[in-house]
Amino acid sequence: MLVPSIAALLSSVASTPAAGVVLADDRSPAGERRLPERRHLHERSMRGGGGTLFQRFFPRTPGEQPEVISSPLEHALPNVDDGGLGKAYTSVPEPPRKWDVCVVGAGLSGGVIAERYATLRKQSVLIVEKRRHIAGNCYDFLDDQTGLRLNLYGPHNFHTKLTNVWDYVKRFGRWAHYYHKKLAWSEGRFVPFPLNTETLNTIYDQHLMGANETAAFLAKIAEPCGPGGCSNSEQQSVASVGRAAYNQFYRGYTLKQWGVDPSQLDALVTGRISVRSDFDNRYFTDRYQSQPRDGYTRWMAGILSDPLIDLVLGVDWFDVQQRLAGRCGKLIFTGPIDHYFADSGLPKLTYRSLRFEKLAVLNIGEHGYYQPGTSVNYPEMAVPFTRSTEYKHYPGQPRSNHTVVVRETSGADGEPYYPVPNPRNHALYAKYKALADKEALKGVHFVGRLANYKYFNMDQAIDNALRIFDGLDRDSAPGRPPVKKRKKEHKGGAHEDALHFD
Ligand code: UDP
Repeated sequence: MLVPSIAALLSSVASTPAAGVVLADDRSPAGERRLPERRHLHERSMRGGGGTLFQRFFPRTPGEQPEVISSPLEHALPNVDDGGLGKAYTSVPEPPRKWDVCVVGAGLSGGVIAERYATLRKQSVLIVEKRRHIAGNCYDFLDDQTGLRLNLYGPHNFHTKLTNVWDYVKRFGRWAHYYHKKLAWSEGRFVPFPLNTETLNTIYDQHLMGANETAAFLAKIAEPCGPGGCSNSEQQSVASVGRAAYNQFYRGYTLKQWGVDPSQLDALVTGRISVRSDFDNRYFTDRYQSQPRDGYTRWMAGILSDPLIDLVLGVDWFDVQQRLAGRCGKLIFTGPIDHYFADSGLPKLTYRSLRFEKLAVLNIGEHGYYQPGTSVNYPEMAVPFTRSTEYKHYPGQPRSNHTVVVRETSGADGEPYYPVPNPRNHALYAKYKALADKEALKGVHFVGRLANYKYFNMDQAIDNALRIFDGLDRDSAPGRPPVKKRKKEHKGGAHEDALHFD
């Protein structure tokens, strides 16, 4: 049975007013929905945090001023969205149907495992996904208002140095080369982020020319952590960029993003951010950096296209697990591990969530943009959001006379996006992991970011799923060659306990 057409408005995604910008509140105090507020760019006060929030925007069509409409980012699904596959069910097929493998979750990890079992081992797979669409947090869609492709759960930038992962992802759609770049808006101007020679020259009024001069300057301002190493994110960032730049670029951003001071977070949170002693302004330095030309949803549809894969969307596994008892050869669980063990009596793990606010800028012109690049970070506390993304800058976007900027605000409640890496959660996760290891004896395996409570990058999630498949496959056919252990790689690559999700 296919799903009836229903407008699914994601109510957890609420609007947060930006400093200095009068934005429409989605709901009146009585709770009824109001129309989003319309404003003209020239009427808006763009002041906030002591400076102009956006230094400039780029309307290239003379005449009428563009119009700005603010609303929560949401998407009315016309039906279930299986990326055009046309094969999604909305309830679990009745007995006697059985599957070799059941997978909970149609995101990256679940999708890759399903694809491997179906195409390599010719085994039947059932995927059960709570959301009414595929592709997990990579999910993107064409926005009705502007025709642009937006990510419902925040921007995703694919990058990897792993050739096996790049070879794998290329097989399921066309990719467009793209170097992600970020600017930070600080003290009234845009500067490249992560800090590079240009950033240091701008903020410290220097004239550094090359790697040696920059490295010497950084060594002068940095405060090393000492022989024991850096034990938290404050120490880590002060050791790499010095106290002043830490206060300017890291402290406020991290407080807003995680809700705690950087001194309360593992060093590897800010350790993800490199510091450059040259003019390289790419966010990542990995060899392969690309975006799927037709979007992540279409690309994921390619992964799930094998006829041996059955897909059930909009159904919570926990509601149907009894009905599926004895009908799954093995179970791959990619949801939050603490949800699986909700009855264990253990306390819950904590997650950080995100809310997205959409600013649609209408009639700015086909070549009109709102901000100077795809991504701008806002480290100042006076600005309530952390970053804004202008999707029109991404390759493969449809032509549009409009543009959209999506602003992110973090919070404790809502969809679980980020595991929170601190000592309490590490200790608690170890207890869940012990339960998970016992479950493996019953044929249940925990794969992916939420199930492993790790803040994987997309490439890490894919690499991890490929390796888990290889391991399970080898266990079920002992003659197969062992999986090679990967050496730890430095930032940006895949390593077991890496923290990166982008
Ligand atoms: N961070 C920061 N300032 C920035 C960007 C990042 O302090 O302008 C810190 C923050 O704690 C963040 C971490 O570095 O959580 C990792 O940043 P990244 O951009 O990798 O985070 P993600 O893309 O996963 O949200």
